[in-house]
Amino acid sequence: MTKLVYAFDEGQKSMKDLLGGKGANLAEMKRLGLPVPDGFTITTQACIEYLEHGSKLSEEVVAQLQTQLDLFSQRTSKSFSSDEQLLLVSVRSGAKISMPGMMDTILNLGLNDDNVKKLARKTNDERFAYDCYRRLLQMFGEVVYNVPMTAFDAYFDKYKTDHGYDNDADIPAEGLKEICEHYKSLYVEKVYKPFPQEPTVQLTEAIEAVFKSWDNDRARVYRQLNDIPYEIGTAVNIQEMVFGNSGERSGTGVAFTRNPVTGEAKLFGEYLLNAQGEDVVAGIRTPKDIASLEEQMPHVHQQFVSVSQQLEQHYRDMQDIEFTIENEQLYILQTRNGKRTANAAVNIAVDLVNEQVITKQEALTKVEVKSIEQLLHPNFDDEALTKATVISTVGLPASPGAASGKVVFSAEEAKEQHEQGEKVILMRPETSPEDIEGMVASEAIVTTHGGMTSHAAVVARGMGKCCVTGCADLEINTTEKVVTYPGGTLAEGDIISVDGAKGDIYVGKIATITAEHSEAFEQYMTWAQDIARLSVRMNAETVPDIIAGYQFGATGIGLVRTEHMFFAPERLIEMRRFILAHTQEQRITALNTIGGYQTEDFEQILRQSGEKPTIIRLLDPPLHEFLPRSESEKAQVAEQLGVTVTTLDKHIESLNEVNPMLGHRGCRLAITYPELYVMQAEAIMKSVIRLKEEGIDTNPEIMIPLVSTVEEFTTLKTLITERIEALAQETGQDLHYLIGTMIETPRACLIAAELATVSDFFSFGTNDLTQLTFGFSRDDSGKFINAYSNQGILEQDPFQTIDKSGVGELIKLASVQAKQVNPNIKIGVCGELGGDEKSIHYFNDLEIDYVSCSPYRVPGAILATAQSEVESGRLSVK
Ligand code: PEP
Ligand code: MG
Repeated sequence: MTKLVYAFDEGQKSMKDLLGGKGANLAEMKRLGLPVPDGFTITTQACIEYLEHGSKLSEEVVAQLQTQLDLFSQRTSKSFSSDEQLLLVSVRSGAKISMPGMMDTILNLGLNDDNVKKLARKTNDERFAYDCYRRLLQMFGEVVYNVPMTAFDAYFDKYKTDHGYDNDADIPAEGLKEICEHYKSLYVEKVYKPFPQEPTVQLTEAIEAVFKSWDNDRARVYRQLNDIPYEIGTAVNIQEMVFGNSGERSGTGVAFTRNPVTGEAKLFGEYLLNAQGEDVVAGIRTPKDIASLEEQMPHVHQQFVSVSQQLEQHYRDMQDIEFTIENEQLYILQTRNGKRTANAAVNIAVDLVNEQVITKQEALTKVEVKSIEQLLHPNFDDEALTKATVISTVGLPASPGAASGKVVFSAEEAKEQHEQGEKVILMRPETSPEDIEGMVASEAIVTTHGGMTSHAAVVARGMGKCCVTGCADLEINTTEKVVTYPGGTLAEGDIISVDGAKGDIYVGKIATITAEHSEAFEQYMTWAQDIARLSVRMNAETVPDIIAGYQFGATGIGLVRTEHMFFAPERLIEMRRFILAHTQEQRITALNTIGGYQTEDFEQILRQSGEKPTIIRLLDPPLHEFLPRSESEKAQVAEQLGVTVTTLDKHIESLNEVNPMLGHRGCRLAITYPELYVMQAEAIMKSVIRLKEEGIDTNPEIMIPLVSTVEEFTTLKTLITERIEALAQETGQDLHYLIGTMIETPRACLIAAELATVSDFFSFGTNDLTQLTFGFSRDDSGKFINAYSNQGILEQDPFQTIDKSGVGELIKLASVQAKQVNPNIKIGVCGELGGDEKSIHYFNDLEIDYVSCSPYRVPGAILATAQSEVESGRLSVK
């Protein structure tokens, strides 16, 4: 018999696969002797079985549940039917990987019309008992029967207004009774059946609902965003209730052992007195800073501080802890590794190494590769900020970033506008898990309610999205679609700017500047570089990009796309002269002028690189890309070239290709127009000579694109070498250079052994290689690739993440064979996959020396190479 239900006493932290993160950690905390309310966990395996086999809990689960419930009753001496020792429980989901607020929770389960009276009698607090009951009715209705939350909320808010109550806590017991009666009638009205009075029925229905919530829309979106597999399922935790809403000596809160925004090593958290957990997370009431608990309940604060230190030491990472205080008694309801901004992640990892809690290698696994890019994002220009009109400065800096966009008031609107290419800022009183897709679509999120641990704040931080919460000076009216702020109003579509690092909001779009790096970041990246086997180069051709790439730690340039240098108007016209020339002489004249420009360009690039290896790829795209398209452009070009528009049109027509991607491009251009590559090679070497004269040594690596036969490569290599050698003779200079090939066609992979005998280096162009291996057009695959991944035909877009069994096998075969015949050959990857985390893990296990990607992806790529090396087990522990 498979065990499907575990008491907390039977688990431990290593059992996350089976018990989920929450269940495993509750069990672990119990083992540590911490004050955790007792309970048990139904496994993720039971969830998957439930989802696979239909809509009822299996007999097996029901039987084990009953056994555990009996044992639980014995341990706690409580039961759902006892007058004096009434058992009430919470039911919460908990997957292996935490998905904050994404799935469902039900509190106070076990209450019914009878039990609520017992609770009132026992606690001598009727108000409290009915407050619990109304919460259960609301959560149960929403989670189990899909009654919209608004149906409950609207009545609740109206009740408060009609009776002149400002706060929830002002409603007396009689009022709450009335509200409970109305809530019960909503069940009959909306789902045609009454609220189940029998606690065990409540329990099974709640468990089933949590299992089902694994498949709800918001959980699906969250899984997709975070690459969480469906198959892991969620566990369900049943735990004895403790009541943070049983008066002013009770409360509930969330705290992080370190600041999740900055990483500062100081307890960071919030709590609310006389409240239940959902009140803090939902952000409806603005909570108090954890520090003030010291004044209100010094011994509870003291105990919490020591528990949080113990948990951080035990888990060797910053913890996110949920707690409840019942009549000054502290209970811990959850601990998990806390979500944090990229900045905090780096600072915490470095601090934990310095505090000797973790090793450098462990530290390198603590920052997510995809979050590193957050650190490189720009900030608002201080100068521009001083002139900007302020909307609010009282908000909390919940998640950093500098974002501008149009105001929208609903998640749906955010999604719609985003799909039309608009940048939007979602403004809401608070967010709830239903808003997840709208949050993804927005540049930033602003809320009026809620604190640093509200739903909006936690989820935005997890996504690396700019967010400001608790802007109490704004009134956001989502019905009228208007925001009132101290100096005016905003309507839908108005542009605002949000500073998530400071918590400020401004009118209009504000200029940004690039971010500066902290010492901790530099330190962290050095550790990564120290252990990485693969080096990381950049794909770049402009001076600012090259400077940025080197600042980010690139070891050289893996790809200069020379075609990007032909688009300035004075160059374009010369290129057009070359393409439209009738004689070789005309062509050479045009090329000479272009050669002059190219020499200047290469000089600038090589000056930045110095001795770092710099791959310059000779011209790659089809020539028609350089020709005019619109009628007005054609007229202008015809005039510049001194030909008629008809002649120009005819020429353009003659260059037209049915499949340009498979046509006259790459090295084929130079097979037909050899002078093109000769000019480029000469320009490269002339710039090398100029720099040499200034005392600057360089290492150019000349790369020939789209090769598929050895003869193509050797023909062009001979041509280029002859010209360079002639230049060396003319100038008396000893010139160092390499000539290598891109590997972009399946045929090139198959003849890699032969190519490796004549080529100094290989660089896999995975964009073209993927296109040609699948036969998917890289420009058109967007039209069908989503359907492929939605239907599970392809696990991921092969243009973004390596297709291991096809393209990956070709790369493996080619690199192994190349190194066999030429162990010194340098092999790199310069297509999009060179910057992709999963692909980098794959390349790290092959005979590959470096990856190359755009400058802003360089730090992420360096971290991915380091993480891959840590995971490889090749390193000795340091
Ligand atoms: C490639 O094909 O992967 C490559 C880097 O070249 P481009 O994208 O310029 O065709
Ligand atoms: Mg290519």
